[in-house]
Amino acid sequence: MSASNGQERHYKTIIIGSGPAGYTAAIYAARAEMKPLVIAGPEPGGQLMITTDVENYPGYPKAVTGPQMMEDFRLQAERFGTEIKYDTVTKVDLEAQPKRLWLEDETEYTADTVIISTGASAKWLGLPSEKEFQYRGVSACAVCDGYFFKEKPVAVVGAGDTAAEEALYLAKLCPVVHLIVRRDEMRASKIMQKRVLNNPHIQVHWNTETEEILGGEDGNVGAVRVVNNQTGEKQEFPVKGFFVAIGHKPNTDIFKGQLDMDATGYLITQPDSTRTRIEGVFASGDAQDHVYRQAVTAAGTGCMAALDAERWLAAREDEEAEVAAG
Ligand code: NDP
Repeated sequence: MSASNGQERHYKTIIIGSGPAGYTAAIYAARAEMKPLVIAGPEPGGQLMITTDVENYPGYPKAVTGPQMMEDFRLQAERFGTEIKYDTVTKVDLEAQPKRLWLEDETEYTADTVIISTGASAKWLGLPSEKEFQYRGVSACAVCDGYFFKEKPVAVVGAGDTAAEEALYLAKLCPVVHLIVRRDEMRASKIMQKRVLNNPHIQVHWNTETEEILGGEDGNVGAVRVVNNQTGEKQEFPVKGFFVAIGHKPNTDIFKGQLDMDATGYLITQPDSTRTRIEGVFASGDAQDHVYRQAVTAAGTGCMAALDAERWLAAREDEEAEVAAG
């Protein structure tokens, strides 16, 4: 074990999560000789593992698949000595010094600093057909995948700001965007609603729920069958893309009661930093950012978290040296 101070399972920095934020934090921490441990979590690689081509991440002019990009991130983190453990943190005590973390089998790890990069998970409707067409037209990210449906009809499910944003984004590319809304009103902010309702490419279907996503001749999404929950009337819309935008859930349950979070569970960090309310604990990526939620912004905050952790450790070492010198 390459524990950083020779003590069993103790590290200077433990990074929880292995999406763009976690691996970027690892690259920076490893290059700063912090010998980080990444605990990869239940979905190693994060949300990009369920994305097809990534065309908007700088540095990949010919696009790259989500899984390939995450493999590149991992290799780059390992190149500088990051240790990766494919396991899940189930419990933490972040107030303790050193901080304590437990895995599924209750093995305990300790760390001087912890970087949280546990990401968020898109909520899904729970239809079997949604899984069946996951890489074949079903998506939870219009900015990531919308371009593949240029000039084609698509549907978006949801009625919050995310659904409104996704529909408006897609309306720039697609001739028809069916917005499937389960009530007779939208939850999105008034200004977003206005934009949606005034957009000639967006057709809003009120009181409507998705019954099934149907395959086309090419084996990809070909149509969606919906039902009006007031009249029972069913309809089928031909679509090539089906975007689920019913919200994201940050993966922060294990930090409840220890770290500050907003009503939805997004971790709150201090302005212009990744510091949480607990000294030595930093948060990055989609667990902390509900506004941008892009791979590149997650990577950016992962970098910030490693720099913040490095500076925090250096300041603490200075303090300890001063105390030792009397
Ligand atoms: P929200 O929780 O605000 O909205 C989720 C929407 O999905 C609701 O309209 C809900 O319907 C609908 N929904 C939930 N489950 C289902 C289901 N099973 N079937 C059909 N529809 C369903 O999530 P968002 O991701 O939209 O937003 C999260 C937060 O982020 C909000 O605070 C939002 O304001 C913010 N945000 C801000 C943005 C900005 O400022 N630019 C952009 C994006 C998000 P119902 O209304 O009936 O409950």
